[in-house]
Amino acid sequence: MSARILIVEDDEDFRTLAAKVLTKRGYDVTVAVTGSTGVERALADATDLVLMDLRLPELDGWEATRRIKATKPRLPIIACSANVMQADLDRAEAAGCDAFLAKPYQVADLITTVTRFVS
Ligand SMILES: [Mg+2]
Repeated sequence: MSARILIVEDDEDFRTLAAKVLTKRGYDVTVAVTGSTGVERALADATDLVLMDLRLPELDGWEATRRIKATKPRLPIIACSANVMQADLDRAEAAGCDAFLAKPYQVADLITTVTRFVS
């Protein structure tokens, strides 16, 4: 059975790209556009990995990560963001993110990072 990956991303281009790449790779992909929907999906659905944009409407990726980790501490969460500063990375780590991927990323980097956590 393929690993289930939840992509939480408000940018349509990044969301579409990641979904396409991961689906093609054989993963079972679901998407969420807002932080609150991402939290709902991550907690309600069987999910093996979350790709979490940090800058999201309503509820940002840091807070969404904290809420998911409060219930599912072992669910791997990869933070994704463009133009991040060290303080953002520190906050992501403090929120419980397991890895970080800078946008725009190469497809190979996305795959490498994802396969660190799921087969
Ligand atoms: Mg965003």
